[in-house]
Parts: sequence; C-alpha cells; structure tokens
Amino acid sequence: MELLKQNIKTLQGVGPKTGEKLQRLNINKIEDLLYHFPRDYDDRRNVKKINQLTPGEKTTIYGEVMGEARKVPNRGRVTILQTAIKDDTGKLFLTFFNMQYLKNKLKAGSILMVNGEVKRGRYGLEMVNPTFEFVDTIEGNPAEGVMPIYPATEGLKQSLLISLQQRILETLSDEIVEYLPEKVLRANRLCDLKFALTNIHFPDSAQALKIAKYRLIFEEFFLLRIALLRIKQNFSKDLNGIPLELKDDFNDLIERLPFKLTNAQQKSLDEILEDLKKHTPMNRLVQGDVGSGKTIIAILALYLTVLNGHQGVMMAPTEILAEQHYISLQEILVPLGIKVGLLVGSLKKKEKVKLLSDIANGEVQIVVGTHAIIQEGVDFKSLALAITDEQHRFGVRQRAILASKGQNPHVLVMTATPIPRTLALILYGDLDISIIDELPPGRKPIKTYEITLDKKDKAYDFIKKQLQQGRQAYVVCPLVEESEKIEAQSATEIAEELATDQFKEYRVGLLHGKMHPKEKEEIMAAFKGKEIDVLVSTTVIEVGVNVPNASVMLIENAERFGLAQLHQLRGRVGRGAYQSYCLLVHNSKTQVAKERMGIMVETNDGFILSEKDLSLRGPGEFFGTRQHGLPEFKIANIFKHMKILKHVEEEIQKFLLEDETLTLKDYPQLKKKIEEKFEQLDDEISFS
Ligand code: ADP
Ligand code: MG
Repeated sequence: MELLKQNIKTLQGVGPKTGEKLQRLNINKIEDLLYHFPRDYDDRRNVKKINQLTPGEKTTIYGEVMGEARKVPNRGRVTILQTAIKDDTGKLFLTFFNMQYLKNKLKAGSILMVNGEVKRGRYGLEMVNPTFEFVDTIEGNPAEGVMPIYPATEGLKQSLLISLQQRILETLSDEIVEYLPEKVLRANRLCDLKFALTNIHFPDSAQALKIAKYRLIFEEFFLLRIALLRIKQNFSKDLNGIPLELKDDFNDLIERLPFKLTNAQQKSLDEILEDLKKHTPMNRLVQGDVGSGKTIIAILALYLTVLNGHQGVMMAPTEILAEQHYISLQEILVPLGIKVGLLVGSLKKKEKVKLLSDIANGEVQIVVGTHAIIQEGVDFKSLALAITDEQHRFGVRQRAILASKGQNPHVLVMTATPIPRTLALILYGDLDISIIDELPPGRKPIKTYEITLDKKDKAYDFIKKQLQQGRQAYVVCPLVEESEKIEAQSATEIAEELATDQFKEYRVGLLHGKMHPKEKEEIMAAFKGKEIDVLVSTTVIEVGVNVPNASVMLIENAERFGLAQLHQLRGRVGRGAYQSYCLLVHNSKTQVAKERMGIMVETNDGFILSEKDLSLRGPGEFFGTRQHGLPEFKIANIFKHMKILKHVEEEIQKFLLEDETLTLKDYPQLKKKIEEKFEQLDDEISFS
C-alpha cells in the first residue's frame, strides 16, 4: 500500500549517503523523485562515433578528455581554451570561448558527453562551446533511446538518478494513482498520470513527451488553483470576523473630501463595505494603476473601522511611503479626533515603548508603518482591519503575519502592479479582487521621451523651463542592485554636480536609502513644501510617493530598469493637474533596450506595459515572483504557459458550477492529493 509515499531511503539502490543528498533536494518520498523532472534530454539514438561525424551536423558524442585544456594565445581580450576528446575511432577538438573556469575542470581521462555542432577547424573536426556533461562511461548506447538529463544535483550522478527512476517506473508503476477526474482528462485530452510520469523521464517519442508535459503543466496549475480557491473559501467560511456597520459620520467624511471619488473608486469601496459588513472576514485585493487613488480607499476603510470601535493597521514597504501615508491619515482623520501612530524601525527606544503601549491599550486607533509592524511585541487591543499597501513588495507570509495580529481581522491588500488576469488568479488566487481602472479626472497623460546621452543638456534645459513655471523635478539615478552604498554614492555625486553646475540657480536635494530616516523625512517634507526644486533620488521613491507639483522626472540610465519599474517611477509625476513629463536618458544600442524605451514612450497603460514586458523579457521580474510566497512550480511557468493556464481556468469554472464549495467529495483522490501537496501553503496563508 502506498509504496510511493514511503521514504526515499526505502528504495532499493538508495543508500544512506544518496538518501541524504536526495533529501537535500527536497526529495523525501519515493514519489518526490518521480516529480524530479529532467531539465533536458539526451537523444542517444543519435549518438555517433567520431569518425562518423560530418561538419555542420548537431549531435552528441562521447569521448575521453585527452589532456588538460590549454589556453590559446590571442590578441583579443577573450580567453580561448582548447582540448580534445577521443573515442576508439578518432579525435575531436573542443574549443571554449571565455570559459576560463573550465581549465581546472576538464582533466585528462574524464569522460564527457558533449553536444554541439561539428565544424571543420584548423586542426581537424571541432565543436565550439558545446554543452557537456561528465559521465561514467564512454558507451552511449543508441538502443537506450532518449535519456533524461536531470538538473545539477548535489553530487548525484546522472546515471544513478536514471537508474533510480527506471527502478521506480519498472517496479512501482502500478502504484501511480490517477487523481484528476476522468472528465477533466477527457475534456482536455490529457494523458493519464502513469503515461505522463513515464514519458517525462523516458519519452517514447517527441510526441509522447509533448503529451506528457502538457498533462503535467495542466495538472500543476489545476491543483494550485483548486487549492487556492479552497483556501479562499475556508478563509471566510470557518472564521468569525468582526462585522463593521456603516455610520453617518462615514458618509459625512466622503461628502467633505476635497474631491469626488471616481466611479471605479466608488465601486471598489462599495465592494469593500459589503465585505466589512459580514460576519466573516474580508480578504480582498485592490488593484489599480499608479495614481488611481487607492490610498483614500484605505483611509476610508480605516475610518469606518475606528467608528466601529476597533483598530486598523496599514503596512507599507518603505519608510518614506509609510511616512507619507501617516501624513495623509493625519490630515484627514486627526481633525475628527482619531489618533494615528507611525511605527517604523527608526523610532527611538522611548518613543517606541510608548507607541507600543498605546497600541496595546487601544489609545492609538490607526497604526501605519513598515515591516516593523509585524515584529513581535506589537500587539493590538482590537485589530479589525489589516491593510498592506504595495502588496507585490511583500510575500503571502507577511500579509498573513499582519493579519495574525488580530482575531480574524478583515484583510485588504493593495497593489499597483497591473498583471494580466490569469496571472492574478495564480498570484492572488486566494483573494477577491477589486479593480480601479480609471484615473481621477483632469489628469493629463504623462508625456514620455527617450533621450540619448549626447542630448542630456537639452533635457536639463527642458527641466529648467518647468522649474521656472513653479514646478518641481525628480532626477532618478541608476539602480545598483548589488550595493545600496554605491547607489548612494552615485546619487550624491550627481546631486553635487547638478547643484554646482546645471541647476546652480535652483535648490537641489538628495534622497537615498543610506540616509538616516529622520533625514529622509526632512527631505521629503522639504520637497513637498516646495523648498526643494530638484530632488535627486535613488529608487527609494519608486513606490507610492505623492507630490502633485512635481511635473518632470528624468531617469538616468533608463535601460537598466525593467518596464514595470520605469512605470512605477514615472507614476511619481502626473499626479496633479499639470502636464507632466518623463525623460528616459539612455545609452543603449541593444534592440531590446530600444524596444523597451519605445514602449514606454508609446503607452501609459500599466496593463499593456505588463504584457509587453512579459513578452519581451519572458519570465521577468515584473513582480517579484520570488516574493509572492507560492510554492515553486516544477514544470509549469506562469509566463510561458499562460495559454494552458487559461484552459485550466475554464475547467475550474465548470468544476465550480457543480461543486460550488469545492468539497471534492466525489473526487477523493484529487482531494487527498491537494491536501497533501498544499498542507503547508494552507498553513501559511491562513496563518492565524
Ligand atoms: P495610488 O493609487 O498610486 O496609491 P494615491 O492614492 O497616492 O494613488 O492618489 C494619487 C493622487 O490622486 C493623490 O494626490 C490623491 O489625493 C489624488 N486623488 C485620489 N482620488 C482622487 C479623486 N477621486 N479625484 C481627484 N484626485 C484624487
Ligand atoms: Mg499608493
């Protein structure tokens, strides 16, 4: 029974050492090994002997390294390494460009499986920069057919992995139980699980491999979607939330706002109010492009929470943003007698102690802050609403910890990262979604220009004209991923240069991540208060910052940013009634960079940008995928396989029609699989 669920160490051929190595790869059960998929295949049917090779063909060859790789002297700046391999029929040269590290790896006597295109070189046949693997024996046996190549693995030999997989499939294949419902298989023409697992490792043909892959990708999406939906339903179903009543004061505040809510804002707010009324907690995402006005929605929800006698909290990813929210909250709510607290890492010990005690005794009704909020020791008297702003900067887990600060509080998350709907279903599949797809009236679309380095002076002149009209400007310095320090230095240099040269008649300010929070605060306040004309900044201003009088942004080395980030940055201007501009200074001649600049110039629409970004960069960093907190996909790729994801979604909809609450009672195998696979995810998301 359930042999596949047994510890991997019970598999014949797995000794204690191998067992440990496998466990380091998270392969604990025998079944896990079956789901350790090949990263590629070695088509041994094509294996040839060296004397059978002809120039121009791409093929796999086995051979023994004849001698240590030697450096070929040359005038250029490349390193060229050359070695040769032999089999019993001849000799083949291997040439590697710029792979100096191979010098110590390729030793005489080691046996390689190399794959590449055969060329006629100066001394004879050669392959240039072939891919290769170390193998045990020189015999690539055409009768073996197509063999899997597994991802590099903690010193585990390919041949061992292959033989273990073969053993499982030979001796335990009857244990492979189908868990997808028959009709799902049929409707989507999916192969059964046994076929899929057999052929993903040892494909009978290219077609069989394709069929196997499709099924496994489909399955991976399908299981995750159902798991997320079940979590979403459990989240609300089983929990006693804190119903919040609508109050007259609340409507009064809306009446007194300096602006009228847009229809899209109103709709999102209504959806939120509807959730807040319920006895089950809200779990909602508000998605809206930069500048669409999400903050006021959050503020209103917080206000209603306080009117009902409870506390609310809002977490933001940076101190600057938290600070800004704090100011906005104070402006609107302090006149109404509400106490707002700001909790950030840089508080002095004494201030912090006081604040924590005020939060704990309910004196402070609304808390806004950074990650500092989810630290231990922050306890609320009665937390009823937990908001995360810029959720894409946080993980699922942080959102959950925030919620765990109360007794099933309502949860609201906000993000400006517009993503295609199918992706949202995966990334935010456990949430209800409200979309603000409209900007406040009177906004003029930002005009974006790309500017090559040699024309930078013109850009400065342009900025000066804006300053003369009373506007303000941002100059954003290139991001230096590896070092905040270098980034800060370069920003400092640019600020000095601008202050003493191009903008010497203006007040230039500097903002970067290495500055003391108090300093940052002062600089932001000065910029808001128009005491600074040009703010030179690193990407610390990327999210959320709101200074409507700033009408122009110059971004240095724009080619180094992703489209999403450029869009976020650009969103710092165009937040008031003034025509705003974004100047992308770049020095890149690559096609992709040019295309990206072009797209920025063409569109202000975050959704279009996200799709273009995806198609240009493939699995991009559009939104920190690492951060979203979902389990890694083994074979599916939310970017590459969006079409399959769409089919999955259609299937899920059918499923819901017949089993609305996803009890899965008619599908015990599926239920079991999902419970096993997502036990941990469930814990993390509904952490409470
Ligand atoms: P984001 O959605 O990027 O968080 P904010 O909430 O910071 O946007 O709002 C951007 C600006 O738009 C702020 O200055 C805010 O006061 C203003 N704003 C929000 N809603 C409206 C509205 N309905 N009409 C006019 N201005 C608005
Ligand atoms: Mg915002």
